[in-house]
Formats: sequence, structure tokens, C-alpha cells
Amino acid sequence: MIEIKDLHAQVEGREILKGLNLTIQPGEVHAIMGPNGAGKSTLSAVLAGREGYEVTSGSVTFEGQDLLEMDIEDRACAGLMLAFQYPVEIPGVKNVYLLKAALNAQRKARGEPEIEAPAFMKLVREKLEFMQMDNTFLHRAVNEGFSGGEKKRNEILQMLLLEPKLALLDEIDSGLDIDALKIVAQGVNSLRAAERSILMITHYQRLLDYIVPDYIHVLADGKIVKSGDKSLALELEKRGYDWLLEANA
Ligand code: ADP
Ligand code: MG
Ligand code: MG
Repeated sequence: MIEIKDLHAQVEGREILKGLNLTIQPGEVHAIMGPNGAGKSTLSAVLAGREGYEVTSGSVTFEGQDLLEMDIEDRACAGLMLAFQYPVEIPGVKNVYLLKAALNAQRKARGEPEIEAPAFMKLVREKLEFMQMDNTFLHRAVNEGFSGGEKKRNEILQMLLLEPKLALLDEIDSGLDIDALKIVAQGVNSLRAAERSILMITHYQRLLDYIVPDYIHVLADGKIVKSGDKSLALELEKRGYDWLLEANA
């Protein structure tokens, strides 16, 4: 699905990613953990193609294509989708409008006709219900005045609708109470499929009790310094990150 090789990236002239390697196969769920400031959000921003993040060397191949050559829209249409750590509010744009526009842009890129209004409403209501959101969320401006938990649920709602090939989740658990966390996890778990990959970034082990990854990686100082299976999360919970930082210093 995606192969990241020796990736180096800068933000405002400062090197943040310092030779990152990661390969994810279709159907796999990977988690990236690591201390604050390690470069986790920078990695997701680089993969999503956000402005201001400059790749200085290395490569990223997404389904055989050079991801770094693609612009943001191309990446989205190719099936890479990012749920943000801090979802943006878009005043004046109704949530339902954004969802429909995003779905139709994807269909257009695939040469499919626009979805008809009744079919769209049926689909979106089904997904809303799954995320335990009521219909009023469709008619409010995107994320405006949403609580932290509602914003995160709205991000997953978009994913359920757009069905990305690679879903990147940046700290989808931050700021969630346990009930919201369970709903978000249920949404993410429903995305698991043989042809889809999920990369979730988290600071806490707690999320991994609900979404159990196939692999866990520790990102520290711009590199993956340790990889393992889900038992690594328990070890990190007990020992923290310092022992890994010292070993790699
Ligand atoms: P993490 O998500 O692991 O906590 P980040 O990727 O957000 O870490 O940040 C890594 C480093 O890059 C931090 O030192 C942060 O201050 C810096 N950084 C990230 N984004 C920006 C930005 N837009 N401008 C300046 N510095 C940034
Ligand atoms: Mg952080
Ligand atoms: Mg972050």
C-alpha cells in the first residue's frame, strides 16, 4: 500500500523527519507512538501533502505511484485520507455540502456520475447513525462549535463515506472521553478490510485497547526507533520512551 524510504523533511528550515522508513501492506493496521515533538504530526502532514512541509530526501510510494509528486487533491482521489489531530472549522459551509462535494469529487476522478440526492441522503444517514450523530450535524457548519469528541466523530464519518484506501488518523483519541473513544474506535474498526490500510498515530496506549494494531512503531527524533507487535504498547506503558531514546542517542 505505502512504502516510505529514508524520508527527510523540514518545517521552516528545521529538519524534523530524519530518515524514516515504514512499509504498510494492504489490510494492515499500524500504530505510531512516540513522545511529544517527535515528528508524528509532521509525518502525517507530509503524507497528506500539506503546505509548508518540505521533503528534502527519500521517497514515498503509494500503490506504486510516487506520492510526493502528487498534489493534495490527487492524493485524496487516489484514496489517501487524513483525519486531523485538530480538525478545522469551516464557517459558512454546511457539513452535508462538504460531504457531498467530497464524495462527488472522488466519483468524478473515477469517471463515475454524481451521486443522486436521495441515494446520498440514505448513505449519509446510515453513516451518521453508525457514529451516533443526529441529523442536525448535517446542517451545521463544518466542525463549527462541535465539541472535541464531535469533531473526531465527524472526521470518521467522512472516512466511512469516502472509504479511503489508506486512512491516516492523527491522535484521533486526544481529548475524547471514554464513550466518545468507543464510538470513534467502532467507526475505525468498521473500516478494517483486506484492501484497506490504517495508520494511526497516538500518544496513549488506551486507544490501542479498542483498535488493536498489527504493528506498533515508536517514532522518536524523526525516526522509527523500534517496531513490534501490540505487546510493545504495554512495554511502553510500563517503561515510557526514555529507554528507547537513550539506546538511540
Ligand atoms: P508530534 O506530533 O510528534 O508531537 P510534531 O510533528 O507536531 O510532533 O512536531 C515535531 C517538531 O516540529 C516540533 O518541534 C514542532 O515544534 C515542529 N513543528 C511542527 N510543525 C511546525 C510548524 N508548522 N512550524 C514550526 N515548527 C513546527
Ligand atoms: Mg503532539
Ligand atoms: Mg502531533
